[in-house]
Amino acid sequence: MTMLQASRVDLRVIGEPRLLSGLDHGRADRHRHLSTHGAQPDLTRADYTKLAEAVGLRGRGGAAFPVALKLADLPAKGIEAVVVNGSESEPVSRKDRLLLTLAPHLVLDGATGLARALGAPHVLIAVHDAEAAMSIREALMERDDGLAIEVRDTPGRFVAGEARAVLSVLEGGLAVPPGRRVLPTRKGYHRRPTFLSNVETFAQLAVLARLGSKRFSSTGLISEPGTQLLTVDGAVQRPGVIETPIGVPLEAVMQFSGAAAGPVLLGGYHGRWLPHSGGVVLKRPDVSSGIILALGTDSCPLGEVHRVSQWLASQSAGQCGPCVFGLAALVDDFDRLVKGDPSGWHDAERHLGLVPGRGACAHPDGSARFLASALEVFGEDVRLHLSSGSCGRHVKGVLPVPRGAW
Ligand code: SF4
Repeated sequence: MTMLQASRVDLRVIGEPRLLSGLDHGRADRHRHLSTHGAQPDLTRADYTKLAEAVGLRGRGGAAFPVALKLADLPAKGIEAVVVNGSESEPVSRKDRLLLTLAPHLVLDGATGLARALGAPHVLIAVHDAEAAMSIREALMERDDGLAIEVRDTPGRFVAGEARAVLSVLEGGLAVPPGRRVLPTRKGYHRRPTFLSNVETFAQLAVLARLGSKRFSSTGLISEPGTQLLTVDGAVQRPGVIETPIGVPLEAVMQFSGAAAGPVLLGGYHGRWLPHSGGVVLKRPDVSSGIILALGTDSCPLGEVHRVSQWLASQSAGQCGPCVFGLAALVDDFDRLVKGDPSGWHDAERHLGLVPGRGACAHPDGSARFLASALEVFGEDVRLHLSSGSCGRHVKGVLPVPRGAW
């Protein structure tokens, strides 16, 4: 186990470091990157597809889509762009901005290597963190990939990180998902076939291209080998980003981070609550965006969830009725429930059945998942609030929510 401190985020490793290798002293410039990882091999599209398939590589954003299937969905010719989605709009997540800031060449290797293999002339990197954008721009000055590579700033709103919202921004439009659900592999950047994935996916591709499938599979699960980056926060003594083998027990990560006992939120604010960390191994799709939040036992769980519900409602892009009105209604339901009004509980149960699957993006579905799992896991707290108007604990703000967000 290693502990690193860089760019105001604690970095730690359980097991063998791969993505975080060579970052003990901070940002890896081109020289340090090459001395740590070696040169990037020149692979073909068939090579990337075979490697991604052999190790079952999945995207490291929220959707965890298999990379080999995404590659297979692209046409044989005419691929317009490779897009690195570094919007990282979950307020707790740090892993992608950390990679862009400290290991920019690893991300660039993954993106440019794949762009060359696909014959895509453009590489676009969407970032909303200023330090990360500066680091990538500096890295680009240290290399010549023979491609048109652009770094574009994106807004920090939650739904601005959705793939189609990112494409809209890159084309000069608004940072909201368009009404239609279309795959970027068919109609992406300027309606042309595009390979779009999350920052960590490209760093993993760069590692996979160098190691090959056999060495890549020397850690992690047989069904999903390799490592993963997790962002751990909340009621923990050591918040930060951890690289672990895939399949590591959640309990080990919690102990490693000095987490208080109590419920755990897995997968961020579109994720689900667990009553405790026992008996769970961390793998996709459950781990989703790699965010783990410990709640502890000192703060009112329903009050914490209500705070986050206000933020989630404030992040709606305001264009789909079930999302705008449904999330606002759920905020009101949870407000009444926290105050001990049984109608709040009944209305929340009813609205949670109506919201999912009716928006142009997954924001209402993810928000409903988060709130529904809270009602399940915090059943005893619901009972206390309804019988006594409180669970006896104040809301301490353990779950981070951006200030002034609503
Ligand atoms: S579902 Fe909500 S967040 Fe998504 S596009 Fe519609 S209004 Fe915007």
